[in-house]
Amino acid sequence: MKSYLIIFLYLVISLPFSASAEELKQSVQNDIPYLEKIYHHLHQTPELSKAEFKTAKYLAKKLTEYGFEVTEGIAKTGLVAILKNGDGPTVMLRADTDALPVLENTGVSYMSTATMINDSGVTIPIMHACGHDMHMTVLLGTAKQMVKYKDEWQGTLMLIAQPGEEISYGAKQMLAEGLFEKFPLPDYNIAMHVSADLPAGKVGYVMGYAMANVDSVDVLVKGIGGHGAYPHKTKDPVMMAAEIIVKLQTVVSREISPLESAVITVGSIHGGTKHNIISNGVKLQLTVRSYSDQTRNYLLKRIEEISHGVAKTAGMSDNLLPEVIVQEEYTPSVYNQPEFTQLVIDNLGQAIGKDNVVVTLPVMAGEDFGRYGRTKEKIPSTLLWLGAVNPEKYKDAIDNDKGLPSLHSDKFAPDTIPTILTGVTGMTANAINLLQKK
Ligand SMILES: [Zn+2]
Ligand SMILES: [Zn+2]
Repeated sequence: MKSYLIIFLYLVISLPFSASAEELKQSVQNDIPYLEKIYHHLHQTPELSKAEFKTAKYLAKKLTEYGFEVTEGIAKTGLVAILKNGDGPTVMLRADTDALPVLENTGVSYMSTATMINDSGVTIPIMHACGHDMHMTVLLGTAKQMVKYKDEWQGTLMLIAQPGEEISYGAKQMLAEGLFEKFPLPDYNIAMHVSADLPAGKVGYVMGYAMANVDSVDVLVKGIGGHGAYPHKTKDPVMMAAEIIVKLQTVVSREISPLESAVITVGSIHGGTKHNIISNGVKLQLTVRSYSDQTRNYLLKRIEEISHGVAKTAGMSDNLLPEVIVQEEYTPSVYNQPEFTQLVIDNLGQAIGKDNVVVTLPVMAGEDFGRYGRTKEKIPSTLLWLGAVNPEKYKDAIDNDKGLPSLHSDKFAPDTIPTILTGVTGMTANAINLLQKK
């Protein structure tokens, strides 16, 4: 009898909300028909980056309805929703809101037929091909549960709907407009992104660097043009560009530690007009990826040094050296603070079952969520992967070595119900546990 009592006390003390894990799951399950409708609505009304006007209005209406204090117009189409519930820490949950110029080809009954006129006046199809509609649905579902379970937690819940993730705009702009000054400063930041490689029901995590610094770099190689039959009277920029491309490939393979990750890809090369004309210039476009800031700075420095070095060797004067332009709009890497991530995955394990929380590999793709953990306060942050693939389709793909539609694919269709269920349960359990009453 005594040992039962000890076990009971242990569970109550160490797992504040775990006794109600089943209850929480059931509570989210009850909301599924409501949340599925929300998901279908958001899926059918996608809007491009920086144009998420209807989306923002919709979210603002729902969150106000639930009792949140909503501030719209942060980074134009972003919003912040606050629920104050006594003294305690502040937890920030983030969903991104923008869609992509993709013509949907999933065949689902709630397929998007939306179009929009882009900056050049061209009508283009739009689809939530990166699953941001799911992120918003999970955010609303979590908001609703947090209101329902208000007696179980204490502190401030801060929800943000961030626009322009796909163009690396929203996080930077929301911070620039005073996200952490005008609103409560979070103690923790969490986001979930759907995964096209994990079955629905599972959540993936990475400790430490999870996603990369992403830089776009233009290299404008200058030459002295002339007749293709008289190369000795020219300085050929095509030759210089070729040498630069080859030399750049030695930076990652010979100068960066094999244990550090980095990528330099020359994705575009344009120069010249005709067979027999040596042109005056060649333009290279590079994507440069890394995790640490130290590696990022090193790569960018070497791209300039190599480009200049090749041109100098070819005899170009100092005023005609290649111009290396690093685009300002870079995406900084996502660093999942390990101690905080451990806490989050422990909470997840209690809520959705330990076996459903799986470690995944870091990727060299970019996500601007990293910015929220990179301000001077260095707020512990973590970005989780929310499994979204139908489990049978996942099994079939693994067993038969078939590919699955990736994020941004016109065929990417999350398995709605289990994805929403896992996302809302996992997020709510974390928010409640991080906002535990003392
Ligand atoms: Zn995306
Ligand atoms: Zn995305």
